[in-house]
Amino acid sequence: MRPVRAIVSVSDKTGVVEFAKELSNLGVEIISTGGTARLLKEAGIPVKEISDLTGFPEIMEGRVKTLHPKVHGGILAKRDSKEHLKAMKELGIERIDMVVVNLYPFKETVAKGARLEKIIENIDIGGPTMVRAAAKNYKYVAIVTDPKDYPEIIKELKETGEISLKTRFNLARKAFNLTAHYDALISDFLYSIDENGDEIQCRELRNPLTITFEKVQDLRYGENPHQRGAFYREVFVKEPCVTRAEKLHGEKELSFNNIYDLDGALNLVLEFDPQADGIACAIIKHANPCGMALGKSVEEAYEKALKVDPVSAFGGIIAFNAKVTSEVAKLITERFYECVIAPDYDEGALEILKTKKNLRVLTTKGLEGLERKGIDSPFEYRRVVGGLLVQDRNLITVDPEKIKVVTDREPTEKEWKDLLFAFKVVKWVKSNSVVYAKDGVAVGIGVGQTSRVDSARCAAEKAKLMGLDLSGSVLASEAFFPFRDSVDEAAKVGVTAVIQPGGSIRDKEVIEAANEHGMAMVFTGIRHFRH
Ligand code: 5GP
Repeated sequence: MRPVRAIVSVSDKTGVVEFAKELSNLGVEIISTGGTARLLKEAGIPVKEISDLTGFPEIMEGRVKTLHPKVHGGILAKRDSKEHLKAMKELGIERIDMVVVNLYPFKETVAKGARLEKIIENIDIGGPTMVRAAAKNYKYVAIVTDPKDYPEIIKELKETGEISLKTRFNLARKAFNLTAHYDALISDFLYSIDENGDEIQCRELRNPLTITFEKVQDLRYGENPHQRGAFYREVFVKEPCVTRAEKLHGEKELSFNNIYDLDGALNLVLEFDPQADGIACAIIKHANPCGMALGKSVEEAYEKALKVDPVSAFGGIIAFNAKVTSEVAKLITERFYECVIAPDYDEGALEILKTKKNLRVLTTKGLEGLERKGIDSPFEYRRVVGGLLVQDRNLITVDPEKIKVVTDREPTEKEWKDLLFAFKVVKWVKSNSVVYAKDGVAVGIGVGQTSRVDSARCAAEKAKLMGLDLSGSVLASEAFFPFRDSVDEAAKVGVTAVIQPGGSIRDKEVIEAANEHGMAMVFTGIRHFRH
């Protein structure tokens, strides 16, 4: 196809002058809308106004510019249909072979914090209509939506005098992807507010038909080097999360696994309010914590977390819920880690961390939104071949008032503290999971075994190997104990109190076991499976 006439109507005017100039030199007639036409004319490019083509002025502050049969007939006509050609002739419709359009900056307007009225005004109507029409008719028309494609198109035109079917098809695919994304952005935004433009405080209201992600970047590879990988994110999210985090240092790019583990690490430390609960440090390996502790300072939390399993911590990811200090930064640089993520760093800390070339240092830029009601990012997704499982995020917090003591003995105050701590930690450990905790340290973390008793045993054995004493510790289980065996195992290593959801048909047997061992046991009624 050799283009005779092109409509050029762009909001992002990058490169458009050069492109239109080249087109014009190649003999393509340029028709353009208000702002674009002005710019091209100023550059001395011969341009016909859209109103000259339609015989209709641009009206309603530009809401109606190109929405006209002379435009859409010219784009949509089949060039080899007698009937279409006849209609064109009778109605004076001229063929339009190329459409160069990009859309009103909807997302950018939202990001700027504009008022709802302004945001709505930035919903492009005529643009997507032309884009879709031209893309549908790719057999005859070239639809150019991305300034990055301008040079290639000119090159092809100069070399061959045409735009090939292959190019037109690729451009059409891209165009529909653009309009799909554009409309999804609008829909996502509208699902995040109410009719007055106020942010929605009730995530139950959100249940859209489609869910939108947009690409942040391609990754070096996926989970393994032979798998391709990319990073996509939800669009209108403000809470502290890895998809919003800013990289402050680190030559290497984040990898697929880094991002996944950073998410796990952050989820875990965000369970704890630095003021109310204490400063939290989590060390993550392969999505599971291998160290987790609370402390009065970041150093204390880090040192305690590291002691849980310094072997596994090698090459891990560290997260804090508080500002990283120079003291802890020094300790971190003594060992090999992949990434650190925290709400903030003091200046000295950042300088120290920067001495490690490959250590990626990320900030969530504060902890605003710490309460995490899941308003911004309400869903969690799990891929299955050919589909996606979608669920609410697991953001439930256990109300201590609603926890039931089921044994003869009540937990002591110290045990209560550790029980609540352990149940928060176990939530972010892959099932079957158990966590032994003592004085705000997850002294034994049992991850991902196929039986609960194995998780309990593994964690205890590992604690022993690390020289940690489990006597006087408490045990949390993310789901009920199906048998008494785990409780018996726990008793052997000196566990004095247990927290679990309850609800097994053998609860009675399990409670009896706890009573026999003089343990306190509490039921939360809440399960935290994590696959
Ligand atoms: P300009 O800066 O040329 O005045 O406007 C360019 C923008 O107008 C492009 O982003 C294009 O998508 C958009 N546009 C073109 N035709 C129409 C129309 O009929 N209605 C609306 N609302 N936007 C249009």
